[in-house]
Amino acid sequence: MSHIEKESASNALKRHFASRVSNQIRVLLNLWRASLDAGLKVEHLPKLIDECEKLMRQSLRFNIHHQHDQALLILDTLNEAHSQDLISEQQINAIQVNIDQLSKSSLRRSDSQDPQNIPAAKPIILAVSKEYAEKLTQQFNHFGMINIVAHDNEHFYRLQDEYTPSAFITDIHFVREHNGLELMSHFAKLKQSNVPLIFITQEETASIEQRLEAHRAGGIRFFVKPAVNQLIRAVEKYYAPKPEAPHKVLIVDDSRSQAFFCEKALTKAGMETHTITDPLEILIALDEFQPEIIVMDMYMPGCTGTEVAGVIRQQPQYIGVPILFLSGEDNVDIQLNAMSRGGDDFLTKPIKANHLAITVESRARRARVLNNLIAKDSLTGLFNHTYILDKLKQACRQAKEKQQPLSFAMVDIDFFKKINDNYGHPVGDKVILALSLFLKQRLRNSDSIGRYGGEEFAVILTNTDAEQAMAVMNDIREVFSQLDHNADEKEFQVSFSCGICSFNGKNSDHIIEHADQALYEAKKQGRNNVQIYIE
Ligand code: GH3
Ligand code: MG
Ligand code: MG
Repeated sequence: MSHIEKESASNALKRHFASRVSNQIRVLLNLWRASLDAGLKVEHLPKLIDECEKLMRQSLRFNIHHQHDQALLILDTLNEAHSQDLISEQQINAIQVNIDQLSKSSLRRSDSQDPQNIPAAKPIILAVSKEYAEKLTQQFNHFGMINIVAHDNEHFYRLQDEYTPSAFITDIHFVREHNGLELMSHFAKLKQSNVPLIFITQEETASIEQRLEAHRAGGIRFFVKPAVNQLIRAVEKYYAPKPEAPHKVLIVDDSRSQAFFCEKALTKAGMETHTITDPLEILIALDEFQPEIIVMDMYMPGCTGTEVAGVIRQQPQYIGVPILFLSGEDNVDIQLNAMSRGGDDFLTKPIKANHLAITVESRARRARVLNNLIAKDSLTGLFNHTYILDKLKQACRQAKEKQQPLSFAMVDIDFFKKINDNYGHPVGDKVILALSLFLKQRLRNSDSIGRYGGEEFAVILTNTDAEQAMAVMNDIREVFSQLDHNADEKEFQVSFSCGICSFNGKNSDHIIEHADQALYEAKKQGRNNVQIYIE
């Protein structure tokens, strides 16, 4: 195996410049954090102003406009505080928001279609006890998310006036018993906002009554303390939301006009459809389209809908795909029989377009949640071993069809055993979670990420050749290796090694093995590097 790690000269140059600016951002971030830790006094301002000006000059020189603009906002506030010889909480918060956006923009690799579109981060507002707030703040900061802590009701109202947060986290008993519930239900009535609201409580008060109250007050999630990892996962979804993919609906109907009616109703409601008019094509359609729900006519030539349902249910991998029958049948016995053969619901024609769309959408949504529970790893929320392998097979097939490149990367954390040994298993878990969030942030939506094993990850990079995959993974490797992790009072760094294999149209059975060989090579080369498998 020979190994290449070269990029085109202009790419390398661009990355070099970007990394210079990223470094300066990091300097500013660290200084800001250190100043905050030291109580942020006026005498800290000149140095902050100095580093901020440096960042502005560099980003201007390298044409990174959005970072230049962020730096300018920070500088304005710093100068304002400096001239007044006083820094207010308001100013600190304003700077914090800009600092956070800077840190995001230096970390995030956005989708290639829209490289400039880095979503503005909104803070998370916490209404919880002081000790718990400290614990959460530390963790959120660690994962690059910012939050603001409310001290009491009045402060809470002021904060929610000033910010549009990405989520609220409220203790049911914030400040005093039941106050958190009252506060939020009052707020919900007042504001009618759709900011996600998460409630937390202690073990002793996690009764069904409390959960019901929390639901009535607008709570969409409910956690029992400490639940820090789960909270981070839950909030991450709102903090850096990625657009949901449309639900995929397979329509099976021998009547073209009926199928067209369905297609129109469902696509208008934002779903993606695929239609077959010959039920005998069902196996190919399932395999290629991978629907999340099937809408099927009851009576078709060749075989009936219930028979097709029987065939689908013979295959365990499609057990989670709901089947909705559509027919003029209003005989209850026949309907019940169809359900006992594996159908999930029965809709009687004629049906209104929006009734059809709402029914299909809500079924598909629940199916997605259930399938995610099956397909995803519980610690990281990434695809699990079985599922990522299925995804790889699919991706290889599609790459062949579309004649597009495809790369597969295996990632393994270096010396992970030592992390467990030195700091304990829970800290090891946190590192795994950190890497998984990091991969999610930096890869595109179209890439699939799986937890392949304990501290091993698998990444499928669609429409990406080996060299591009190398550049992406190497970038991620470099930044990840510089992140600080903490255990008790100690800080430490973690690196990973990575092996890449590209799909050559034939090697789908061996692609994993080859990526693994490249990974082994990376370990042999001394770890903390990326290698490509070359035949
Ligand atoms: P190398 O650089 O060669 O990859 O060394 P390593 O120590 O990372 O590799 P090794 O495979 O020897 O050890 C992996 C360790 O990961 C062993 C196992 O106890 C630990 N591990 C596996 N799954 C988990 C997990 O879910 N959480 C934690 N905390 N540890 C895990
Ligand atoms: Mg390993
Ligand atoms: Mg390892």
